[in-house]
Amino acid sequence: MIFDNIIKFIFPSHCVICDKLLPYGGNLENLFLCNDCKNKLEFIKDPICKKCGAMINDNDTMYCERCKNDMHKNFEFGFGLLRYNDFVKESLHRIKYRGRKEYIDFYGKCIAKKYKNVITELNPDYLVPVPIHRSRLVERNYNQSTVLAHSISNELSKYGINIAVNENIVHRMKNTRVLNKLDNDDRASELKNAFLSTDLSNIESVILVDDIYTTGSTIDSLAITLKNAGVKNVYFVAIAIVDNL
Ligand SMILES: [Zn+2]
Ligand SMILES: [Zn+2]
Repeated sequence: MIFDNIIKFIFPSHCVICDKLLPYGGNLENLFLCNDCKNKLEFIKDPICKKCGAMINDNDTMYCERCKNDMHKNFEFGFGLLRYNDFVKESLHRIKYRGRKEYIDFYGKCIAKKYKNVITELNPDYLVPVPIHRSRLVERNYNQSTVLAHSISNELSKYGINIAVNENIVHRMKNTRVLNKLDNDDRASELKNAFLSTDLSNIESVILVDDIYTTGSTIDSLAITLKNAGVKNVYFVAIAIVDNL
């Protein structure tokens, strides 16, 4: 804790939403968010889609409209921290393209705090970051999902929950195009054979870790690869989930 404080003093943090330099000290929120931005984050709360974890309007409905159309049979279900909005969009963009790796720890800590009981119950063998292609790793220096997975794992260990990160069981073979510009069919063909893994029949279940869940096509494709390799249950966790309320 003292060490954390010294680090914090030497490297003051920036607001994860507007990037403003923050004053030293405070609780988790104060360490990562300025006063103006605290209400810009929309934390996901019930009712949620039982498949993808997106917020829905209706308590009596099980699934969001998106999942009603495509039941994503390849993975079990997923859960996320925030509704995707313009503020989160900007924050995730800075993580990916402007080197603001430090923001990730805020999201990792919040995910661990909110979902520690869910994760304990699922009892996964590993947290598995959604892999990026080697060429993107060279470009960005880090895979934001790997950093997030380590942050979650690290934070969970403070609650006495030990789940390792494993980024070696599945690899991204194809440098896919930016998926949010493609329609559903194009996404599916772009992701076909995008991932590769070895025999994983000794693994019961994993939680995939990603920054954002949009249509589920990436998680679907990964889940198919993992299940073909022998993994029995595949879940996911994301910082933000796109909904259509
Ligand atoms: Zn701010
Ligand atoms: Zn859904």
